[in-house]
Amino acid sequence: MILVSSCLAGLQVRYNSTHSLDDRIRKLVEENKAYTVCPELLGGFSTPRQPAEIIGGDGEDVLDGKAKVVEKDGKDVTNLYLAGAEATLEMAKKMNATFVVLKENSPSCGSSMIYNGQFKGKKIVGNGVTSALLKRNGIQVLSEEQFVEGLI
Ligand code: SF4
Repeated sequence: MILVSSCLAGLQVRYNSTHSLDDRIRKLVEENKAYTVCPELLGGFSTPRQPAEIIGGDGEDVLDGKAKVVEKDGKDVTNLYLAGAEATLEMAKKMNATFVVLKENSPSCGSSMIYNGQFKGKKIVGNGVTSALLKRNGIQVLSEEQFVEGLI
C-alpha cells in the first residue's frame, strides 16, 4: 500500500476546490493499492482556502524554523502546514508505505519544485513541507511526473 495526494486521485481538495486528476493515480486507489491523503486538510484547513506559498526557503527550511508558510493575504499558517506534515508521516508509518506519490509544486506536497513565495507563478527547486518531513524520515517521495505505472 502507498499513499497518494488526494487531489491526484480526483478529489476536489485543492485550495480553490478543484482537483489535479491523474488517471494512473486514481486507478491505484480504485485497485486498493493506494490510499489518499491531503496534508493540508489533515493540518486543519478546509476547502476552499487561501493559496499559500513558502517564504524564505523551502520545506526543509520550514522544518528548521528558517522559513514560513504564508497565505496570499500575509497570514502565517506555518503551524498548520507542520501539523499536516506530521499527520501524514504518521499515516505513512502506520501503513508501512514503501513510497508516496505527491503532487508537484505544492507548498505541502511538492518534491522537486515549489512556488517561490511571491505569488507570481514562479517556481524554484525545493520540497514542500510534507515532502521534506517524509524524506527526512526515509520515505521515498515521487511526484506524479516521476511516477511510472507498474511500480506497485
Ligand atoms: Fe493536493 Fe497536497 Fe495540496 Fe492536498 S496538500 S490539495 S493533496 S497538493
